[in-house]
Amino acid sequence: MTTKSRYATAAVVGSLYTALVVWLVGAEARSYRDGIRRDRERGNVATPALALAASPSRSALPPTVPPGDEVAPITPEPITPPGPPEPEPEPATVIPKLEVPAANVEAAPSTSAPRAARSPGAVWADTLDLNRLTPQEEARLGAELHGLVLAGNLADPNGDIQRLKRAGDPLIAKAARKEVEYKFTVLDSDEVNAFSLPGGYIYVSRGLFQLVGETVEPEQDYALQFALGHEIAHVDLKHALNLVAAGQAAGKAQGVDTLNQLMVPIGLGYPDAQEFAADTWAYQRMTTQLEHTRRETLMFLIKLQGFSERNGFRNGRVIPESKSGLTLVENHYRAHPAAWDRLDRLKARGVRPAGGGSPPR
Ligand SMILES: [Zn+2]
Repeated sequence: MTTKSRYATAAVVGSLYTALVVWLVGAEARSYRDGIRRDRERGNVATPALALAASPSRSALPPTVPPGDEVAPITPEPITPPGPPEPEPEPATVIPKLEVPAANVEAAPSTSAPRAARSPGAVWADTLDLNRLTPQEEARLGAELHGLVLAGNLADPNGDIQRLKRAGDPLIAKAARKEVEYKFTVLDSDEVNAFSLPGGYIYVSRGLFQLVGETVEPEQDYALQFALGHEIAHVDLKHALNLVAAGQAAGKAQGVDTLNQLMVPIGLGYPDAQEFAADTWAYQRMTTQLEHTRRETLMFLIKLQGFSERNGFRNGRVIPESKSGLTLVENHYRAHPAAWDRLDRLKARGVRPAGGGSPPR
């Protein structure tokens, strides 16, 4: 598939999911966040999930995708198809059609009527040409998106930011775009997850620390470093900006603003080419510039592969769905290509012709 058609495909997929994103991170996020706080004050161990199924209004809402579009309304059950997906799934082929409640696509997506409740930041973001952002514009865009994330997900005030900086800074130093100022946030979630947003916002869930090891010598924090490197790469390579720029007009025509379009790849993952490029970015820098061994560099994906096998997403590309109990952003790792596939590609890349033999485990 060509790059252009990948982006076109991604734009179509994105237009479906932006409506979902509006639903998840938009109007109801604040009340969910407040609910999470209340649960925590009561001592419940609450995953900061949006708990979609718990919303009494949802089941009554009709599907919203306009008739005649290629999108047919479906019931929730088909969202996760049974059985393993294709070995190298493309987003457009593995993502089934979604039911999106009407309330989430703000009034009359087919018209250009102004909408009343939009924030100044959302209005401002819609004026941007994502292909030509100044560093200042990207920084503000990131800040606006950060606000969206924190509207639906709690930050962990006790998160170990210093550990993230120790592991991440050596790779940030190797990034091409020096104008980006990276900022780390630990999210109060036991889900194993990390993601990033334009402007250098890197998010790590508390659960990721459990995967990579709660206590690791700083000089041996390879697994965490690779996870961060992958997310830094998405920012350094402008993956979200390029992806959304390609479909920005179509998304806006459907009534989905730029901020919410930029959240789509968090819930759905990026196209394969971008995901593998992000892996390669981290792999190359860790094995050459930081002089880690291949095994050290691949440690994260080895751990993630095991975790995915134990937790029902060994083949990756899981669709965000209400019954998972995860927020949209918590689905990010599950929406990636399969860990075994990512691992295989890096192992193949790492084979040096002069060395003969297969890559070390
Ligand atoms: Zn990724």
